[in-house]
Amino acid sequence: MKALFLTGKKRVEIVDIPVPEIMKDTDVLVRIRSVGICGSDIHYYNEGRIGDQVVEGRIILGHEAAGEVAEAGKGVTRFRKGDRVAVEPGISCGKCEQCLRGKPNLCRKVVFLGTPPVDGALREYVVMPESNLYGLPEGLDYNQGVLSEPLAIGLYGVKLSGLSVCDDVAIAGAGPIGLSVLFSAKTAGAGRIFISDLCKARLDMAVKLGADRTVLASCEDLSEVVAEETGGRGVDIGYDAAGKRETFIQSTRVAATGGKSVIYGIPEDDRMEFEASVVRRKELSIINVRRSAHMTLPALDLIGRSRLPFSSLVTHEFGIEKAGEAMEIVSGYSDGVIKAVIKL
Ligand SMILES: [Zn+2]
Ligand SMILES: [Zn+2]
Repeated sequence: MKALFLTGKKRVEIVDIPVPEIMKDTDVLVRIRSVGICGSDIHYYNEGRIGDQVVEGRIILGHEAAGEVAEAGKGVTRFRKGDRVAVEPGISCGKCEQCLRGKPNLCRKVVFLGTPPVDGALREYVVMPESNLYGLPEGLDYNQGVLSEPLAIGLYGVKLSGLSVCDDVAIAGAGPIGLSVLFSAKTAGAGRIFISDLCKARLDMAVKLGADRTVLASCEDLSEVVAEETGGRGVDIGYDAAGKRETFIQSTRVAATGGKSVIYGIPEDDRMEFEASVVRRKELSIINVRRSAHMTLPALDLIGRSRLPFSSLVTHEFGIEKAGEAMEIVSGYSDGVIKAVIKL
């Protein structure tokens, strides 16, 4: 089968490797059809690392995946050959304290696709436990299955932040995660929604998903706009979905006194910076979001029934032989890209 390996910084190569075999009765062999390129894949592609997770040698990237069941182990009860599925990329142990608390995303033994040293989904076949697969509802295509992964993260963080109906929010960053946060906040009944980005195309999409006020970050400052339009109060929750020094700071500046700042972004240099006076005087709660927990099913359901055009997040499709080009486009935010997927 074909597999796409990252062999060095900004170097990808298609290699022919054997199809993996089912090891346990509860395993499923999935023929991957669509894989989304995520910001974290781009960190590995450009920098070879995210914090202390470093690529040694070569690795297959990709964790946002959907495909069809090619073979089901003897003990598999929910799927059979030909079923279309979305893949939940984190295989947690199911036994540790965090797993038993309902937080498999914090499992210390988690095996996560496309995170060193674990190979990801940018290949024709992957073996996954049955419990990591979710049937694609009728009418949903593989790209929509892929979108359930970032949306699960958006939904999880919005839930974690305790957003209440009519809470005003501001989101720094309108990439796939920022737009997933927007879509989730809208669904949860948020009040006014502010969102900023450097790309006009992303802000146009934000308007389609229900943003009330967009901020082109090269022309206006999110925290100034929020201050102006809320009479100096600020919003109940500020979300960072960009992982830049300025956006961490903005997520705290936009928050009202006693409010919250929620961090999704991953900083390139593994450092986050805030203004202590802002955070302290307003007694802000700072909440970190680590992937997602138990949100794939609601994400698929929401994608299927919402009237908002969330599926339009997929702006680009490439064959595996064009994966390098896809990585460059996503990495450079060029050609109006929001979510690029590799078709297999
Ligand atoms: Zn991702
Ligand atoms: Zn565990």
